[in-house]
Amino acid sequence: LMDLYMPLNWFGTYYRAIQKNFVDMENMYDLLREEEEIIDAPGAGPLRITGGGVEFSNVSFGYTPERFVLKNISFKIEPGKTVALVGSSGAGKSTIVRLLFRFYDVTSGSIMIDGQNVKLVQQNSLRKAIGVVPQDTVLFNQTIFYNIEYGKIGASTEEVHEAARSADIHERILNFPDKYETKVGERGLRLSGGEKQRVAIARTILKSPAIVLLDEATSALDTQTERNIQSALARVCANRTTLIIAHRLSTIIHADEILVLKEGSIVERGRHEDLLLKEGLYADMWNQQLKNLEAEKNREISNGSA
Ligand code: ATP
Repeated sequence: LMDLYMPLNWFGTYYRAIQKNFVDMENMYDLLREEEEIIDAPGAGPLRITGGGVEFSNVSFGYTPERFVLKNISFKIEPGKTVALVGSSGAGKSTIVRLLFRFYDVTSGSIMIDGQNVKLVQQNSLRKAIGVVPQDTVLFNQTIFYNIEYGKIGASTEEVHEAARSADIHERILNFPDKYETKVGERGLRLSGGEKQRVAIARTILKSPAIVLLDEATSALDTQTERNIQSALARVCANRTTLIIAHRLSTIIHADEILVLKEGSIVERGRHEDLLLKEGLYADMWNQQLKNLEAEKNREISNGSA
């Protein structure tokens, strides 16, 4: 019995985080594996990636049988394209992402990758095909090198440095006390939110998955950091099937499709311009964000002159 509780206690600190976001889902999945009810179907073969196309068909899901948090969700991401999920807190965005990663099984409907049901393929092949850039990356209390190399264990020094360069974090690392050998995390060098996110991007670039899941940070970063991150994100998403949970709508104006979620259902869908023309929920959210930006600018101006 002790053995059963020990890992749960140890895991406890992360538990709240994972309920809310998919904080470092890939690592979490490894930690959880022992307790996980989701197991490979008998005779499951590896997922065979041909282009990385994703399709949700009539997916419904509830964490508990009494309450569905997703209702009849259908959408398709063609290989290499980008779909964005928007909607208020609790609308079901993270749940969609967790289901694609097969953190839970759907209650009804299906999720297919390149025509294969995620329920029927080996989980570790599924997790290999998907890279996650979480909002808030939990780093290991290990060297920065290890934290990036985790994306592809056994990668060469040159590969790790190259991934860090693509993620715009290489120069920063060279300024750390022991460069790539610097210990980071809770008990090491503390990184800023933007730096941690770039570590996650480097890790994902190194992993080079066909599909990328991206949870945009809610907390505002300064403009320069924001720009660096946007260009690093663009690099990690290029030519990869991308599903992004967007909080700032300005980052998804080029998405191939935007799904607007409300209480577990898709209430509007289309490209940015189409959705603005609809003058519905998306247009309201957009106008609200413009107003907030405006107010912020005015605050900055009045602070500056004071
Ligand atoms: P946010 O923008 O705040 O992250 P979201 O749109 O991602 O919200 P989800 O996290 O998918 O929303 O949550 C959808 C619903 O499912 C919410 O009502 C939430 O309370 C519930 N929920 C989320 N995780 C769990 C869980 N582990 N167990 C039970 N209910 C959950």
